[in-house]
Amino acid sequence: MSNIPKIVILGAGYGGVLTALRLQKELNYNEADVTLVNKHDYHYFTTHLHMPAAGTDKTENARVSISKLIDEFKIDFVKSTVVQIRTQDKKVILEDGTLSYDYLVIGLGGEPETFGIPGMLEHAMNIRSINSVRLIREHIEYQFARYKREPHRTDYLTFVVGGAGFTGIEFVGELADRLPELAKQNDVDPALVKLYNIEAAPSALPGFDPELVEYAMQVLTRKGVTFRIGTAIKECTADGVIVGEGEEIKAATVIWAAGVRGNRLIEEAGIETMRGRVKVDDSLRVPGNDNIYVVGDNSLMFNAEGRPFPPTAQIAMQQGVTCAHNLVASIRNQPLKKFEFKNKGTVASLGKGEAVGLAFGKKYKGGVAALLKKAIDIRYLYIIGGIPLVVRKGKFL
Ligand code: FAD
Ligand code: NAD
Repeated sequence: MSNIPKIVILGAGYGGVLTALRLQKELNYNEADVTLVNKHDYHYFTTHLHMPAAGTDKTENARVSISKLIDEFKIDFVKSTVVQIRTQDKKVILEDGTLSYDYLVIGLGGEPETFGIPGMLEHAMNIRSINSVRLIREHIEYQFARYKREPHRTDYLTFVVGGAGFTGIEFVGELADRLPELAKQNDVDPALVKLYNIEAAPSALPGFDPELVEYAMQVLTRKGVTFRIGTAIKECTADGVIVGEGEEIKAATVIWAAGVRGNRLIEEAGIETMRGRVKVDDSLRVPGNDNIYVVGDNSLMFNAEGRPFPPTAQIAMQQGVTCAHNLVASIRNQPLKKFEFKNKGTVASLGKGEAVGLAFGKKYKGGVAALLKKAIDIRYLYIIGGIPLVVRKGKFL
């Protein structure tokens, strides 16, 4: 039996792909066997999913084949779904086999958090993956066709988005652009189409710069979004949502964009989590399991003021780089590096040609912010796939 250490990476999202790419670069020949496991044979750009979900872009532009990113002479790619992590005997159970590891990297991404709200799991849709956004897009288009057959059902033309965090805001921005087009294509009076964005907190984009929040709300209101701020969704039914003190909003489409939690497989493995996220140590390891690293939405880290870092692609990518460094250091018996998050800023799109952002200590809005968003997306393509990926996908972003 070979005694080369085995590294298994679960999930080819932002954290998993960056870990794999850096290992591919840093490891010497035969220093470790690296396996990357993902349930699809493609990597998707979660940060772009609000567009295909609304139908303002194709799903194809939000994904890239994993074989185009990694060097398969250096990394084994396994297309499979992880069903169990067994830390006691260092094994991962897949739907169609078993892998053993010496070092494990968990980068399985988040899951929608419904906070136990009745009916949410059954009746609402989520922007999470290529498959979930295909469903949303098809469902939205179908509502217009249904309305033509049953013109008394205006609830077919009512769209509810739960949560005005960054996901909710970016999605309503796209949907507000798309709905008038769909109304026109289907000969539907656009005045009958309603788009609600419902937020429990006292402000949209809670915690973000108030001037930029104000600007975002003005732009989106002008595009036809009705905000219900300080209003919690209490229940989701087959007919719509119940909000606030019992008011019903009838809607055939409810998109739940009101929170994420970590992957359930981690807590099922007996690892301690807070809403599915592991409070990792400074080096990104699971306390008490020095050979298990967690990156991305499944990890929980705190800033100097003791507040948790929000789960973003930005932090997942930076963690991937540190994680790979620390895996190589462990194998070489060298000291591990502490992870330090370098916040490069936040930009949120508000549909075509509009965005708001805070970056390099400055505020951006309108077309400049939209260009900044595009630049961030292109930079990501460059990091994972170099110039060839920028040339292939960059023009679509
Ligand atoms: P993910 O990127 O979610 O990847 C997880 C991977 O694991 C996926 O490939 C999945 O298929 C795979 N997987 C899951 N379960 C299994 C299993 N059981 N077996 C095998 N494979 C599995 N963040 C930003 O910084 N900037 C943005 O502009 C931004 N925009 C966003 C827009 C939207 C609409 C959304 C929803 C999120 C956005 N985010 C943004 C947040 C960001 O996308 C996430 O924080 C980031 O994707 C987390 O990366 P990750 O590697 O942890 O997981
Ligand atoms: P989130 O947790 O950031 O926001 C969810 C929102 O839903 C919150 O404002 C919350 O108050 C609200 N909410 C919760 N329960 C509710 C209820 N019952 N009724 C109505 N509203 C309710 O989740 P998200 O927006 O999906 O973002 C997840 C992560 O992804 C965050 O870290 C975010 O920063 C990141 N992200 C970043 C970008 C970007 O940088 N452009 C875009 C999308 C997501």
